[in-house]
This record gives sequence, C-alpha cells and structure tokens, in this order.
Amino acid sequence: MNKVVLVTGASRGIGKATIIEFAKNGYNVVINYANSQKAAEQLKAVVEKEYKVKALTIKADVSNENEVKQMIENIVSEFGRLDAVVNNAGIVWDRSFDEITIEEFRRTLDVNVIGAFIVAREASRYMKKGATIVNVSSTNGTKTISPECLDYNISKIGLQSLTRDLAFQFKPNIRVNAIAIGWADTDMNKDLPKDYIESENEKIWLGHFAKPEQIAEIIYFLSSEKSSYINGEILTVDGGYC
Ligand code: NAP
Repeated sequence: MNKVVLVTGASRGIGKATIIEFAKNGYNVVINYANSQKAAEQLKAVVEKEYKVKALTIKADVSNENEVKQMIENIVSEFGRLDAVVNNAGIVWDRSFDEITIEEFRRTLDVNVIGAFIVAREASRYMKKGATIVNVSSTNGTKTISPECLDYNISKIGLQSLTRDLAFQFKPNIRVNAIAIGWADTDMNKDLPKDYIESENEKIWLGHFAKPEQIAEIIYFLSSEKSSYINGEILTVDGGYC
C-alpha cells in the first residue's frame, strides 16, 4: 500500500516540486492550496499520469482550524493513512518598515506559524510510528536581515522553535525537522529587481538561487528512512551564504 504525503501550499514553487519528488518515490500525494485550483488540478493530472500514483487536491487555508480539520478527515477517509506532512505554505510581504500594518503582521504569523501548528496537531492524530513532519523555514532573521519583511522573519524563526517543540511533543513516533532555505527561484521572488538578484547571487557561494527541485530533494530526504536518526533539527539549505 502506497504511503501518503500532505504538502501544504503545493500548487506552485517548492510545494509543487515536493509533490513531484514524493510521487516519483511512489507516494500517493495530497496537494493543498489556497487559491490556485487550476494549477493544483494540473499537478494532480501530471503526477497521476507520469508516476501512476493517486493524487488528491484540497483547498484549505492552513490558518483556518475548521478547514484544516476537514482536510485531514478527507485525507484519512480517502487513503486511510498519513505518513508524511510538509508544512510548506507561506506568505511574505515586502514593504518599507513604516508601511507594515498590524493586520499584515498578524496574517503572516497566522499562516506561517499557527497554520503549521494546526496542520501538525490535526495530522498527528492519525500519524503512526515512523511518520514525519518537515517544516519549511528560512534563513531570514537568523543569517540575514530584511527589515522590509520583519514579520516574515519572526514567523520563520517561530517555525524553527515550533519544530523543536513538535519533535519533543510527538517523540518517539513522529520525527519533526525543518529546513532553513536561503533563496529559491519561485513566484515568491518574481518581483525582485534584477540588480538585487545579481547582488544576492554574488553572496551565494554556489552563485545562484536554488531550484525548487533541489529543495524538494532535501525535504524528501528528511521525510525518508535515510534520515531516520535526524530529529528536531533545522537544516540550512542556502548554497553557502554571507
Ligand atoms: P510560492 O511560490 O509563493 O507558493 C506559495 C504556496 O503557498 C502556494 O501554493 C500558495 O497557494 C500557498 N499558500 C499561501 N497561503 C496559503 C494558505 N493560507 N493556506 C494554504 N496554502 C497557502 O512560495 P515558495 O517560494 O514556493 O515558498 C514555499 C515555502 O518556502 C514558504 O513557506 C516560504 O516561506 C519558504 N521559503 C521560500 C524561499 C524562496 O526564496 N522562495 C526562501 C525561504 C523560505 P495558492 O497558489 O493557492 O495561493
């Protein structure tokens, strides 16, 4: 019987690449999204055709407790199991310090931290010994300073703290780890000015933003038996940076 993974925010970018990586490895996949229904349905069609696995698309705002509960119930009723969760959904706003509103600040924490907490808590009720959770964090706020998204920085550090708490809470059955990404080539960065991207590339020792597929392989590794003794850890994936 195929294992099952839930990837939140899987319609685009890193989440989409992660779905493909798990499907390649024989998992049935759950593609969660907030708005991009068409992209999610297209991804479902691709993985079902290419990798002969089952895919389920579920629209749910990860910060909405009822929607998450419903999503997890749907997964369990469809597949009868849940082996891996990737808390990937995330949002960021770039604006000047003075423009940051309290509403935006709260929304960032709601989606990026509380959303991951709700998904982990609800999923854990159905996850068995050997299951895994990977939280997708960032080097923002630890290795870099970005005042234009200080709420995002706080959320991603919060997610790292949550990772250790969840690993402790769910021991010894569910391993929980996080990755702290530097830059990845996704929609999240599509509006960055070209000269800024070039100046960042000079700081990255490998010379370029990560491809989503490179991140997805690390997420899969942390969800697989190959990492069976890594737990409560934050793995930096930034190509080397200073
Ligand atoms: P992206 O291309 O902007 O995609 C974001 C995904 O999150 C989309 O699938 C979106 O769904 C989903 N999403 C947003 N709000 C949601 C909500 N409330 N509930 C459910 N899904 C929601 O982002 P990405 O670059 O792939 O980033 C993925 C993760 O990596 C994020 O947590 C981000 O913070 C982290 N990260 C990214 C970078 C980078 O350089 N890209 C660096 C460090 C960390 P819809 O399409 O339906 O809106």
